[in-house]
Amino acid sequence: MKILIAADMEGISGVTNWDQVDPSKPEYPRFCKIMTADVNAAVLGAFDGGATDVVVSDGHAGGYNILIEELDPRVRLNSGNSAPFAMVQGIEAGGFSGVIFVGYHARSGTENAVLAHTWSSRRVANLWLNDILVGEYGLGAAVCGAFGAPVLMITGDQTTCHQAGELLGSLETAIVKQSTSFSSAECLHPEVAQGMIREAAQSAVTDLREGKAPQPFTVSEPVKVTVEFRLSEMADNACRLPGAKRLDAKRIELTASDMPMAYRAFRAAVQAAGW
Ligand SMILES: [Zn+2]
Repeated sequence: MKILIAADMEGISGVTNWDQVDPSKPEYPRFCKIMTADVNAAVLGAFDGGATDVVVSDGHAGGYNILIEELDPRVRLNSGNSAPFAMVQGIEAGGFSGVIFVGYHARSGTENAVLAHTWSSRRVANLWLNDILVGEYGLGAAVCGAFGAPVLMITGDQTTCHQAGELLGSLETAIVKQSTSFSSAECLHPEVAQGMIREAAQSAVTDLREGKAPQPFTVSEPVKVTVEFRLSEMADNACRLPGAKRLDAKRIELTASDMPMAYRAFRAAVQAAGW
């Protein structure tokens, strides 16, 4: 039973502000260590639950946050940020029975959600897949769903876990902090949080083995991708992409033949938006 663990950083234990997840800031190395420990807890739980093969994907910023030398030696790590499948790199190889999201955050514009954003806090105000408002958890889940893999579990603050549950069904959650604003939360001690992550991962994979896991999240194809940018100038730039339709000052629409192509189209639009 092969499991993908896709990790982001904003929802890691103890993280409450950008400085802690920004490689140029002195706080960052501390949280790389904690991120690695949160991921290791999910790895342990997944193996405890019956996983036989675990692949980890490092999905935050440059994709070099997880300390490979401290990672459980049983896993392989997808690292680096130009990867074709970015935050869920590895999924394209196929054969995954389920996916675990570690350290995720709520979508852009959410109240009481630490570092809530959708892909790019400076560029993206909102993202819809076929008119469904999603954050990175929804975008990643739809890509995983296209490869037949359900998201079994998510870790992050209470708002992230709630949003993911609304969209993806009754997945396991590990709430490692209670957010009280965009940059504040009541955080559990990492050891306590990691105990919860391990337990949740174990029951998520056990449920999967027993046929009780959520279904893969799939969107109908072709996929309509609607992006609302922060500024009209960004939409000016992004709507130069072939096939892009301008909806209004800040929104563009792209249509992709399938979900992996929709993921590429969204990433290209965010990049083209510039600024
Ligand atoms: Zn991130």
